Amino acid sequence: MPIYEYRCAACGTRQSVFFRSYSAVASEVKCRRCGATEMRKLVSAFYAAKSEDAHLDSLADPANFGDVDENDPRSVAKWARRMARETGEDLGSEFDEMVDRMESGEMPEEGEEGVAAPDGGEDFLD
Ligand SMILES: [Zn+2]
Repeated sequence: MPIYEYRCAACGTRQSVFFRSYSAVASEVKCRRCGATEMRKLVSAFYAAKSEDAHLDSLADPANFGDVDENDPRSVAKWARRMARETGEDLGSEFDEMVDRMESGEMPEEGEEGVAAPDGGEDFLD
């Protein structure tokens, strides 16, 4: 569940973009404010499942949010909601949808079938 921070080169808005898996990370991200696609990825932000990156933002560090059981979708969902609240950003309908599913006890799988990958120019944030 990677979440990256981007800054829009056109309007300067900083925003977090949520992806359902590493394979789903889009090479092109569209600004939710102005629609520009000149989004610069900032430091790889944070994600709920596993922590490979020791240089996490203090805000983004799941450790600051207490214990998250990565094997418990409800626990991850709770963290994700809190994280979204902390950042004050709208992570989009994909995010809400996934959190809803996790809260009902479903752990999303990498490369899940039947889910459209955000490539081919699809506006997956819509
Ligand atoms: Zn913009």
